[in-house]
Amino acid sequence: MSQLITTLAQFPLHYLPLTMFFSAISALSFIHIAIASCAHGVEWVHPFSANVVPSTFSYGTTTGPLNWHNLNANNSLCGNGTNQSPILLNTTSSLAPSGSITLAVPPAKNVVFENLGTNVEVIMNGTLQAGNAAWNLAQFHFHTPSEHRVNFVHYESEMHFVFTAADGSAKITVLAFLIQIGPNTSYPFLEDIFSYLPSIPNAGQTTQVPTVDMGGFVSDANKMSYYQYTGSLTTPPCSEGVSWYVATTPIQLYVNTYRNVKNTIGTSNSRYTQNTLGQMNILQVAAKNL
Ligand SMILES: [Zn+2]
Repeated sequence: MSQLITTLAQFPLHYLPLTMFFSAISALSFIHIAIASCAHGVEWVHPFSANVVPSTFSYGTTTGPLNWHNLNANNSLCGNGTNQSPILLNTTSSLAPSGSITLAVPPAKNVVFENLGTNVEVIMNGTLQAGNAAWNLAQFHFHTPSEHRVNFVHYESEMHFVFTAADGSAKITVLAFLIQIGPNTSYPFLEDIFSYLPSIPNAGQTTQVPTVDMGGFVSDANKMSYYQYTGSLTTPPCSEGVSWYVATTPIQLYVNTYRNVKNTIGTSNSRYTQNTLGQMNILQVAAKNL
């Protein structure tokens, strides 16, 4: 249990595999604290009719990214961490070796789709082979605009697949895809999922998508190249040691679908760009001489 408690202190509960979670239920009283998007993983019990607890942080002012470190003692790395995400990427950024990731997400039925207030999130099973390790998909979700910038430029959106370590350790890997909007193409699985946005207009609501098949997308993803670095969660508690793979090729989304996503989320949900990896937290840099 001591190892479990250490793990729980390092990462939010929702990241944990279900077995660990149920082991922890009797020991911890803060189980229902909502920690959203990047820091929001597997829901322990997900009956269709149940609502999800919305996020307690925001992208606004006093509860927004500039002040996340003051919302909870566990969020200190948001203000003083030195390997924080998102970061600037450019043509000199490190790339993962070709063929170093293998994503597999089998078609699924009755897939849970939920509105966290700060994000919309999909719960699906899947696996990733990356960095000579095996990972299990916990959830994927969306940011608008993108969190990572390439050559200083934001994309319209960014999709994050969040994985927990298959070996039961507390490690996290995130597979990220920058999203461009346009009139011509979009992946069918995104259109299928987002067609259910009208069922979850408000924070805390969940629905089910009858069938999600992302075969075409997975096939493309396994052929892409990826920027790779070790950073952090982009939401509280901003835990570090997160292995990031950011696809160098943006994917496409219909503009009308994008508008529906933005209208449902109702806020920009992108954390500001963090300092160069290993350098002083940008908040501490900015606080000098205030
Ligand atoms: Zn995210």
